Amino acid sequence: MADRDGFIWYDGKLVPWREATTHVLTHTLHYGMGVFEGVRAYKTDRGTAIFRLKEHTDRLFRSAHILGMKLPFDKNTLVEAQLAAVRENGLDAAYIRPMAFYGAEAMGISAKNLSVHVIVAAWKWGAYLGQEALEKGIRVKTSSFARHHVNITMCKAKANGNYMNSILAHKEAEQDGYDEALLLDVDGFVAEGSGENIFIVRNGKLYTPDLTSALEGITRDTIIQLAVEIGVPVIEKRITRDEVYAADEAFFTGTAAEVTPIRELDNRVIGAGRRGPITTQLQTLFFDCVTGRHPQHQEWLTYV
Ligand code: PMP
Repeated sequence: MADRDGFIWYDGKLVPWREATTHVLTHTLHYGMGVFEGVRAYKTDRGTAIFRLKEHTDRLFRSAHILGMKLPFDKNTLVEAQLAAVRENGLDAAYIRPMAFYGAEAMGISAKNLSVHVIVAAWKWGAYLGQEALEKGIRVKTSSFARHHVNITMCKAKANGNYMNSILAHKEAEQDGYDEALLLDVDGFVAEGSGENIFIVRNGKLYTPDLTSALEGITRDTIIQLAVEIGVPVIEKRITRDEVYAADEAFFTGTAAEVTPIRELDNRVIGAGRRGPITTQLQTLFFDCVTGRHPQHQEWLTYV
């Protein structure tokens, strides 16, 4: 990953990819106190466009605010940085990774007056769980790890340290032969995947967990809007794992995972065991939006 051509935006400048390095005593490397985003750019007929760039940038600033981290750049600068990272690397489609982290001026939990740095990298990244997953769906296992309690690390921040929980859960699921983990909250209700929000379909209605213990996903918001537009009722409520077992359809949403059908949870086949009709409809609408083919929602695209 570190050894490739191209540029990374680093504290206001594009630097050669291989030279975008940081001291080993950088505070965030030790304690995980940092914030990041995952954003995608897609190829459209009118050129490459970043999907919901404003919303991702707003969430980066909200995450930093929640952690009490002051970003040294304004929103406009980071919007331009993300556009530049795609453009200057000559990418027609990309995954974009902005991240803010503390510097190496001091060590320890009590370290004060640390500098804050921001990078934006962009690279080609295909379907996160594989192209086949988008069509056939994935096999998921309920994790032995609970999703963060709201008063342990806060779920509304997309914070680096939160992802230790995600990695443990994902690794466990994969080692057990599944594609992805489903994490429950500390009360035992469905929260989210290791890097995705979850939806289920029952009797023509769409259900998704409320956001107490889940990230406020931008793809989740997109799917809710698209569902409402086609007349599919959307209900946010507490969901149990057996409601997922008994659902007609289920799918994950995320910038990386896009809209990925879930065909099994804990060895129970969900519905017909394949991408269901409402999932298919919403997935198609989603890809129409991100690639600029949807007649509405041009406002979600920022051309590079
Ligand atoms: N939950 C978690 C834990 C995630 O990491 C992500 C990916 N950012 C999501 C949900 C989905 O969020 P989004 O649709 O904004 O990518």
